[in-house]
Amino acid sequence: MANHRIPSFMAADLVIQLSCTLKTKPDRGSFGFGTVFTDHMLTIEWSETEGWQAPLIKPFGDLSLHPACSSLHYGIQLFEGLKAYRGDGDRLRLFRPMLNMNRMAAAAKRACLPAFDQSELLECIRRLIEIDQDWVPRSDSASLYIRPTLISTEPTLGVKKPSRALLYVILSQVGSYFDNEAEAISLWADPKYTRAWKGGTGDCKMGGNYGSALFAQYEAVDYGCQQVLWLYGEDHQITEAGTMNIFLHWINEDGEEELATPPLDGLILPGITRQSILELTRKWDEFKVTERFLTMGQLCSALKQQQVKEIFGSGTACVICPIGHVTYQGKSLKIPCQGENSTLTSRIAKELTDIQYGRTVSDWTFLV
Ligand code: PMP
Repeated sequence: MANHRIPSFMAADLVIQLSCTLKTKPDRGSFGFGTVFTDHMLTIEWSETEGWQAPLIKPFGDLSLHPACSSLHYGIQLFEGLKAYRGDGDRLRLFRPMLNMNRMAAAAKRACLPAFDQSELLECIRRLIEIDQDWVPRSDSASLYIRPTLISTEPTLGVKKPSRALLYVILSQVGSYFDNEAEAISLWADPKYTRAWKGGTGDCKMGGNYGSALFAQYEAVDYGCQQVLWLYGEDHQITEAGTMNIFLHWINEDGEEELATPPLDGLILPGITRQSILELTRKWDEFKVTERFLTMGQLCSALKQQQVKEIFGSGTACVICPIGHVTYQGKSLKIPCQGENSTLTSRIAKELTDIQYGRTVSDWTFLV
């Protein structure tokens, strides 16, 4: 069995160097998002000649990088995002973490970064969380955000497959992602910017996708909106909302109640929350659940005919985020929200957070 495995680091080889001084943890309620990091980090080095080194858990600290390092010049890097929740019985839980590990491995392949054994990485992350377990907030509106990252450390300027890489994982306490989580957010939709395209890397969590989205994000804010509704193509297909997948709950053209989200056609990040919402609502079997293309034209005419029940974004950071307005072609489109026509967002949010915090027993739970 062992010789069929891909060359990888092994969690059994973990070297642990504990920090002599532990940091003061921030007060409850002042977590922000990704600003304060825990006492330790995981690092694993790779080189073409020697393969993966033993994983190392060490005190959190700066990295030392060669100035020519190709992750800095050409963006040869990727990351993941998942959370550890402290829930029932004071136990720490992760939510479907192998899906994050698999998405990370797929992005590594696309980035020409080295392959690794996903379950070995998960075990190293589990050990890191165990060491920094006191950092997992005692709150069901906060959690510990886990940021696995894989970067090229190739120290030369050629645009080529890296001969060196570094995988590292850092942890940060997080509260709610948006300032006021329960409130519906506004989106700005303008086809002049594109987040992802056919044949591109929109379906990978690569830093370049996010850095290049910043300019549009600030333009959205200038127009009084919170996030960008990313459109694609001549027909203004709806793709994603900010850094969330998007769902439309409506009465479709055939008069059927439907929960729809764009298909994974290479433009869409295959969100773990998206997949979970699809699986959950398909299991309910109460309305049609589809992965289908949706255009702004379809949305505008459904709004005119009052066929839209709700629109929401989904992602690890917010779980579910109701959308209240879309600004498109100079008009502010009011989207019906929770309570007016539908209570789907709160029902899904409750089911998912009940699993995440261990109030519902589920095989989607991974105990730390
Ligand atoms: N789309 C984009 C572009 C994202 O960055 C994220 C966050 N990872 C998501 C969707 C949601 O994915 P997930 O549910 O796995 O957090």
